[in-house]
Amino acid sequence: MGEFELIRRYFFPLADAGRHPDIVLGPGDDCAVQRLREGVDLVFSVDTLVEGVHFPQHYAPEKLAWRGLAVAASDLAAMGADPVCFTLAITLPEASPVWLQDFSTGLAAASRQFGLSLAGGDTTRGPLTLTLQVHGTVPRGGEIRRSGAKPGDLICVSGTLGNAGAALEFLDEGSPTPAQAELLSHYHAPQPGIALGQALRGSASAAVDISDGLAADLGHLLEESGVGGTINVDCLPISDTLIALRPDAIDLALYAGDDYQLCVTLPESSYEKLEGTVRDQLTAIGRITAGSGLSVEGAGQPGSERRRQGYDHFGSQ
Ligand code: ADP
Ligand code: MG
Repeated sequence: MGEFELIRRYFFPLADAGRHPDIVLGPGDDCAVQRLREGVDLVFSVDTLVEGVHFPQHYAPEKLAWRGLAVAASDLAAMGADPVCFTLAITLPEASPVWLQDFSTGLAAASRQFGLSLAGGDTTRGPLTLTLQVHGTVPRGGEIRRSGAKPGDLICVSGTLGNAGAALEFLDEGSPTPAQAELLSHYHAPQPGIALGQALRGSASAAVDISDGLAADLGHLLEESGVGGTINVDCLPISDTLIALRPDAIDLALYAGDDYQLCVTLPESSYEKLEGTVRDQLTAIGRITAGSGLSVEGAGQPGSERRRQGYDHFGSQ
């Protein structure tokens, strides 16, 4: 199987999964063509995943494909963008038909789920690495930036936190318990908050997706906005499964990455005007303050030592 045969067989069919009308020319030419519309801004971002760094060695190809596209799509979600397409630069150690078929199947499923069609890419040989560029759009000027949070705004997060981080410990477990399997699903199949991001456009003052942990990513948002924030650990959304399995669930919720939930800020008046179905996806965990840095309050005590470290690390008083 030559390079072009490989591309034609395993990647070209993906152009039809999640097909977007703005992609007027997909893979097969020297470039893809995305039609731009009046009053619309292009929002784009690129992510690289390296074997042994961003995902384990010998990771299942279907899971890798989903995770790769989910991680990239999560950045679009955090901007409140409408997904359009992606390109995939893939470096493969070998052309294994079984691996490629599973990868292609996983990528098609993710592509359909996130509404992102494959518009083109590059295929090379070497250590397994994926680079995914995603394109989305927003009505002109409508993107949700990290820099818009204002004192008094509520700080909210989507979903539950810490599950994927807890799963790192048993990624290689051959026969996980039902509780472990539930946490593993958060690592293997993150669900980027695309619809939530879209619904928050015009309401959220700032947003970031949680890839490196709530404290770290909220820290970036605070810094970009030139504000401080206080969160109450007793309000953190933590799954019953994680609470049952880990005495340090609060630490995981604060510091573990890989969740790909959204952290957003918005004035209380905007929060109250959100549709119930949107508001139900958010948990208010704190407030933006004047000043700088993240303060952590609340009675949840496990790991308070480590919590203080994170707190210093992200520049609070
Ligand atoms: P060029 O040399 O002009 O860059 P390539 O030989 O790298 O073209 O790729 C041929 C066509 O196949 C291009 O349209 C490219 O976008 C597409 N392609 C290559 N690799 C991939 C991939 N992994 N996924 C999707 N399309 C790909
Ligand atoms: Mg090329």
